[in-house]
Parts: sequence; C-alpha cells; structure tokens
Amino acid sequence: MKPRKIPLRKCVACGEMMPKKSLIRIVRSPEGEVSIDLTGKKSGRGAYLCGKEACFRLAQKNRALDRALKAQVGQEVYEQLASDFLKVEPQFIKVRDEKEEEDE
Ligand SMILES: [Zn+2]
Repeated sequence: MKPRKIPLRKCVACGEMMPKKSLIRIVRSPEGEVSIDLTGKKSGRGAYLCGKEACFRLAQKNRALDRALKAQVGQEVYEQLASDFLKVEPQFIKVRDEKEEEDE
C-alpha cells in the first residue's frame, strides 16, 4: 500500500483531526442560515463535525459552532441540526463510502 495524502479537518466540537470525508460539514449561508451540507459544495462559512450525534450534542453544549461560524447559533438551531443529522445519517454514510472510491 502506498501512502496517500488524506486531507484532514478538525472537528469543532471535540477537536479531533479526522479525514475530511468522515466529517460532516455545517455551513452558514450568506443569508445566515445554518444547515448541514452533505455535498460539501454549499457556499458560505463552513465548520466540520464528526459524523456522529455525540459531537452535535457536544457542539451544542460548548457552543462550538458559534465560534467556528463566527455567528450566534441559537439552541433551537443546534437542536435542528442534531435532528437533521439523524435523518441524513444513512445518506451521509453512503456518500462518505462513495467518496472513498473517488479519492483513489
Ligand atoms: Zn467530534
């Protein structure tokens, strides 16, 4: 196996460095809307979280997204993101596994 350069990003909640594809991107649009970006292509300021519910909860607790997105993120937005994540989790895993092949 030859070594490949894997792009790493930091989870804003727990601070762990992870391969970019294992993280979920949260984006704040120019209009100020904070949402999950599964495609990684939405424009706006982005932040990364581990693809697991625990890190959404952790981010909510330590207000990590407020800092990362340089904006006030309401508790209800954190709630929304956490429940959105549970809905998109299967898709996220599918996209992540597809990306793995593209990276070769
Ligand atoms: Zn994390």
